[in-house]
Amino acid sequence: MVTQTYHTTCFLCGGAAQERETDHANRRLYRCPKCGDYEISRKAMGRLTDSPAFKARASEAAAAVKDPDKIYEITIDNKSGDVLGTVVVRRQELR
Ligand SMILES: [Zn+2]
Repeated sequence: MVTQTYHTTCFLCGGAAQERETDHANRRLYRCPKCGDYEISRKAMGRLTDSPAFKARASEAAAAVKDPDKIYEITIDNKSGDVLGTVVVRRQELR
């Protein structure tokens, strides 16, 4: 399934970027010239609205991922409820 790509502002750095819905619209994939590619869940986005420090760190971490088979993912940990940024294997949907 191909979802539509939109021009938008990067959630992490605020620059011009592209995004499309992934994971049955539970997440979004961003493509940013500065941050690179990253995927973020809707719940995490809601929690990070006023977290400029987290966004700055996540921007650097996402940009540091150079392996095309990996991607930076920002989600909420189901057990702790904390927002987590991790490098994971890139699913087929994110290629
Ligand atoms: Zn960015």
